[in-house]
Amino acid sequence: MEDIVIASNNKGKINDFKVIFPDYNVIGIAELIEDFDVEETGDTFEANAKLKSEAAAKALNKRVIADDSGLEVFALGGEPGIFSARYAGTEKDDNANIEKLLTNLGDETNRAAQFVCVISMSAPGEETVQFKGTVEGEITLSKIGEQGFGYDPIFYLDDKNKTMAQLTAEEKSEVSHRGKAIEKLQQYLEGEQ
Ligand code: IMP
Repeated sequence: MEDIVIASNNKGKINDFKVIFPDYNVIGIAELIEDFDVEETGDTFEANAKLKSEAAAKALNKRVIADDSGLEVFALGGEPGIFSARYAGTEKDDNANIEKLLTNLGDETNRAAQFVCVISMSAPGEETVQFKGTVEGEITLSKIGEQGFGYDPIFYLDDKNKTMAQLTAEEKSEVSHRGKAIEKLQQYLEGEQ
């Protein structure tokens, strides 16, 4: 069974990949490198995902998958974008990030937004390949729902008449930016076999 390393410390993400790729030996990078961290100096999701997958593939001499994701709010010129995790300053303070976003958006009527996920796969001696998934929605006026993480409680999906935080994990993966990017990666890997 071929190894695929996931360059993330997020156990939920690693588990998602295990479920999706039963024919591969899916390994979280923490099992191989202690405190793996790459400075995200790129100015796009693509550039940052590539920095992570290429650095890890080089360090391990193995096939590695990394992802970079975030929220783009159109009336804010695409903010918070690549800064989604650290929008309010501290890394991954979901409540502070939501508060800042709602304050900055104020009573703006154009509340259209999208989640973006770019998955990057690198292997020694191979060109890096990338897969992008997006999902469109609207920013609510306040938080609704308890599931998920990040900006899910303020991301409303018209089709579902619910926020992302009102969906189960399975329902979310069917519509989400990450689910769509993973599906494209899965199709690519099936074509390779
Ligand atoms: P990362 O790709 O794990 O670095 O995530 C970037 C940030 O974007 C997260 O910390 C969240 O704030 C936001 N984000 C990415 N994907 C999602 C999602 O599925 N729901 C809610 N927020 C998300």
